[in-house]
Order: sequence, then C-alpha cells, then structure tokens
Amino acid sequence: MLSPVVDEDGAPFWEYAARGELRVQACASCGELRFPPRPCCPHCRSFDSEWRLMSGRGRIWSYVLPHPPLLPEYAAQAPYNAVLVELAEAPRIRLVGNVVATPDAPLNSVDPARLRIGAAVRVAFTEVGGLTVPRWLLERS
Ligand SMILES: [Zn+2]
Repeated sequence: MLSPVVDEDGAPFWEYAARGELRVQACASCGELRFPPRPCCPHCRSFDSEWRLMSGRGRIWSYVLPHPPLLPEYAAQAPYNAVLVELAEAPRIRLVGNVVATPDAPLNSVDPARLRIGAAVRVAFTEVGGLTVPRWLLERS
C-alpha cells in the first residue's frame, strides 16, 4: 500500500484533509504561503505559522502517465496519472496528486486523453489506507 508519510510539520495538512478542507501553511508574520510544510518561513524567517483554507480550485501545471518498468507497488497501481496542480490562490504552490472521475473512483477512471496542461480541476477527498487524501476532478469545460 502506497500511503503518504505524515511528519510533524505536515500533520495539520492531513488533519484538515480528514475534514474535507484543503489548507496550506502560511506564515503568520508576513503572510506568504509555503509548501511543503516546514517550521520556518523562507521569506522572513518567522516560526509563526497558520493554516489557510484554499478554495480547492486549480489548474494542471504538468502531468505524467507512468509506464513500465515501475517499482512493484507502483506497477500494481498502473495505469494511472500523476498531476502537478497549481492552486488558484497560489500558483507557485503545486500539489502532486491524481485526476479521477469521482472522489472514490479508481486511479484509471479518467481517460488520459482528457488530461491537458492548464485544465481546471477541483479538489476532492477520499480515504486511502486510513488516511484522507486529496484527489483532483476535472472541471466541466
Ligand atoms: Zn514570513
């Protein structure tokens, strides 16, 4: 089972995800958003942070369709897409995920021909191995 590794800095991200909220860590001093989560602001070096609610909307910045040879646990998941989504509120922040047809659909539920750079997506959540993870749905265009 491939599951994200939850560390101390990132734990709030997963706790909010479990409530169906996509939140990104922000500096409580200068307001800059940062990802992945870490203790110190790279802009002003403050250690004060907060978690800001995102709209859950974004665009596909890039994507790949992994082909064999893949490591065994990835091969068991194939075929699948892996996308980098830039968030509407923070285009410099890009989250890795998968585009699926519905929140609980399998990883191969979207025809890869429908994926394109710039496509609008919105977040959805599902439980994978006891952890609630964000996934991405294509917006109707
Ligand atoms: Zn800062």
